[in-house]
Amino acid sequence: MAKAHNLGFPRLGTRRELKFALEDYWRQNTTADDLLTSAAALRAQNWEIQADLDLVPVGDFSLYDHVLDMSFTLGHLPERVRQLKGTELDHYFRVARGRSPADCGCSGVAAGEMTKWFDTNYHYIVPEVCGDTAFLLNSQRLVDQIAEARSAGVTPKPVIIGPVTYLWLCKARSGYDRLQLLQNLLPVYGQLLEQLADSGVDWVQVDEPILVTELDADWKLAFETAYHHLKGSRAKLLLTTYFGVLGENLQQACNLPVAGLHVDAVRGRQEVNALVDWLPSHKVLSLGVIDGRNIWKTDLNALLEWLAPIHERLGDRLWLAASCSLLHVPVDLELETELDPEIRSWLAFAVQKLDELRLLRSALNHGTDAVAEQLAANARAIASRRASTRVHNPTVKQQVQAITSDLGERRSPYPVRAERQAVALQLPRYPTTTIGSFPQTTDIRKARLAYRKQEISHELYVSTMKGEIERAVREQEKLGLDVLVHGEAERNDMVEYFGEQLEGYLFTRFGWVQSYGSRCVKPPILYGDVQRPSSMTLDWTVYARSLTDKPLKGMLTGPVTILNWSFVRDDQPRRDTALQLALAIRQEVLDLEAAGVNVIQIDEAALREGLPLRRSQWQDYLDWTVDAFRITANGVRDTTQIHTHMCYSEFNDIIRDIARMDADVITIETSRSAMELLDVFEEFHYPNEIGPGVYDIHTPNIPTKEQMVALMSKAAERIPAERLWVNPDCGLKTRRWEEVLPALENMVAAARELRGIA
Ligand code: GLN
Ligand code: ZN
Repeated sequence: MAKAHNLGFPRLGTRRELKFALEDYWRQNTTADDLLTSAAALRAQNWEIQADLDLVPVGDFSLYDHVLDMSFTLGHLPERVRQLKGTELDHYFRVARGRSPADCGCSGVAAGEMTKWFDTNYHYIVPEVCGDTAFLLNSQRLVDQIAEARSAGVTPKPVIIGPVTYLWLCKARSGYDRLQLLQNLLPVYGQLLEQLADSGVDWVQVDEPILVTELDADWKLAFETAYHHLKGSRAKLLLTTYFGVLGENLQQACNLPVAGLHVDAVRGRQEVNALVDWLPSHKVLSLGVIDGRNIWKTDLNALLEWLAPIHERLGDRLWLAASCSLLHVPVDLELETELDPEIRSWLAFAVQKLDELRLLRSALNHGTDAVAEQLAANARAIASRRASTRVHNPTVKQQVQAITSDLGERRSPYPVRAERQAVALQLPRYPTTTIGSFPQTTDIRKARLAYRKQEISHELYVSTMKGEIERAVREQEKLGLDVLVHGEAERNDMVEYFGEQLEGYLFTRFGWVQSYGSRCVKPPILYGDVQRPSSMTLDWTVYARSLTDKPLKGMLTGPVTILNWSFVRDDQPRRDTALQLALAIRQEVLDLEAAGVNVIQIDEAALREGLPLRRSQWQDYLDWTVDAFRITANGVRDTTQIHTHMCYSEFNDIIRDIARMDADVITIETSRSAMELLDVFEEFHYPNEIGPGVYDIHTPNIPTKEQMVALMSKAAERIPAERLWVNPDCGLKTRRWEEVLPALENMVAAARELRGIA
C-alpha cells in the first residue's frame, strides 16, 4: 500500500490565530500560559486536518521559527541571551526579536539575524557559531508534542533539521569553519534520535534541503560522516530534500545509510526514474508530487498515469507527499467565498492539497474506480483552466512573440544620454532624491480602507489622495530636494497596486503566508496573460507634476519584482510571464514619458532574491530578468532619465548583469555597510550613476548631516562624484513625518556641503 504523509503544515492558523496570540502576548495583554494554550489548540486543529494521513508531522509547528526551535533543541543559544534571567520562552523571544515581555523597560538584546529560507520568502533566525560553541540536548518540546499528537489520534512523525543542513544554516564569526563543529553536534543528534525512538515513533523526518544545492567535497563528506554516525539509530530516518533537483548529489542521497528518501518530484520530476533505479531496494521513496510552493490544483489524472508504473515497481515502498512543507501556501481555500468561482475551481491551498494526496493514495491502492467521481471533477477543473479565455489572450501572446532585441535597447549609450539629461534636467552635483514613498499615515490608510469598503465616494477618495500628494510635494520643495516624487499615498503595496489594475491578476482575502514570526504576506495570484487595460499611475503622477517646477520622478514596480512576489502560473515558464509584465509596464513608462514625466524609476526590489539555488542556473535567470527590465525601461528618449532601485547592496556576483540593465541611475541600500559594498562598483568600473543610500530607514534614528557627509565622502573615494546621487536606503512609508523631515533636512544639508567641497 502506498502511504500518504505530510512534511509540514502552516502554523499560523486559518485566520492567523497564532499571529494575534503572539502579538497579544508580546504586548502583555495575555500570559505565557494563554499563548501556550492557543498554540496547543492550533496544533490540535492542524492534526485534525491531517488526521487520516499515514504519518503526520510533529515539530513543524513553531511559535516563531523552526530553525530557532532546532537551535533550542540543540541547546544552542547565543551567549548574550544565555546569561539573562527568565524562562525558556523569554530566551526564545529574546533571540527571535530582541526582547521578551519580561524585558519591558530595558533596551533588550541584539536579536538573531534573519535571512531567507532557501529561495522562499520565509525568513529564519540564523544560528550563530564560533570555536567554543557547545551543544546540549533539550528534546522536551518534541517529546511533549509527540505525546500531544498521539492523544490527538494521529501517527506522529517528528520533523527535525538534519545536522548538515543545520550547520550550513549557521553563520560563523569571521574565518571559522563551521564544519568543524560537526563532531560536537553529531552525538547530540544521536541522543535526540534515541529519545525520539524511546517515545515510540517509528519514523523521523530529517530535513536536508541543501542536497539540492551544489556542494563542495567537504560538505559532501559531512553527509557521509553524519549519516554513518547516526545509522545505528532505532528510529527510521526519512532523509528529506526539497526545493529542487538532487542533480549531481543524487547517487550520494540514494546511498546514505537511512531508511528512506523524500524528493521534490515537482521541480525534480525528471530525476525520479533515475532515483527508482538507484535507490537500494530496502528503502522507501517518498515522492513530493503535489506542488508545495504554488496554489494550483494538480492534474491528478495525468499524475496517476505517471505514477502507476512507479507504484508497480516500488509497491509499499512508495510514499506520497507535497514537494515541501505546506508552510509556503495559504491554509484553506474554503474561506475565499468572494473569489471568482471559475478561477477558484483551479486552486488548491494547504487543506485542498492534502485532499489531493488522499485521493492519489486511494486511486493507487484501490484503483481509480473507487474515486472516479473526484477524478472526473479534477479533470474538469484542469480542462477549464487550460482552455479558459481568461487565461489565454492571443493578442498578448502575439505581442510577446513579436519581441525583438532592439525593444530593450536605448537609442544612445549612457555617456550621450547623460549629457542630454544634464541639459534637460539642470541638476546640481550630488542631486538629492527619495526612493518614492512618504509616510503612510493613519489618515491615508483609513481613507484607502473606507474607499475599498465603498464607505466614501470616488471623488472624496481622489481628493483626499491628491491632498496627500500635494503635502508630499510641498514638503519636498521646502526641504529643497532636487528630484521630487508624488509619495505613493494611493498605494497599499508596491506589487498589489499594479496587480489590481492588470488583467490576469487575482487577490485573495485570507491567502496569507508566513514571512517571519508573526508577519505574513498575501501574494497575489497571477493566473492569466497579463494586459494593461489603461494607465495605472498617470493621473496621480501628472497631478503631482502640475504642482511643481522641479523634476518629478514617476514610480513603477518592475516586472521581475512583480513576478517574484506573486503566486505565478505553472503552465508557462516564468520567463514568459515576466515578458508579459514587461510589455505592460513598458506601456506605462511610455505613457508617463508622453505626458512629460522625464524621470522614471522602475523598482526591482526583488530581483536578487529570485536567483536560483544552484549557481549553474544563475546566468539563465539573470539573462531573462535583465531582458525583461530592459524591455520595460529602454523604449524612452535619451532625455528621459531611467532610475531603478534595489533594496540590498550585495552585487558582487551579479554586477555585470546590473550594469547590463543600463539604468541611468541605480539607488541601493548602503548606509549600514559604510559604503564598503560599493567596492564592487569601483572594481567593475560601473559606468552609470549611483545613489548609495545614506539614511537607514529601518530605524527611527535621525542621521546627522555629518554622518551622511562622511558616508558620501567614502562613496566618492570609489565612484566619481559627478555620478553620485544622495538619497535614503529605501522608501519612507513605514516612517513618521516627524522622523522623515529632520532626516531629509540633514540629507539636503549634507548634499549642499558636499557641493561646496566637490
Ligand atoms: N518605491 C518604493 C517605496 O519607496 C520602493 C520600496 C522598496 O524598494 N521595497 O516604497
Ligand atoms: Zn527598497
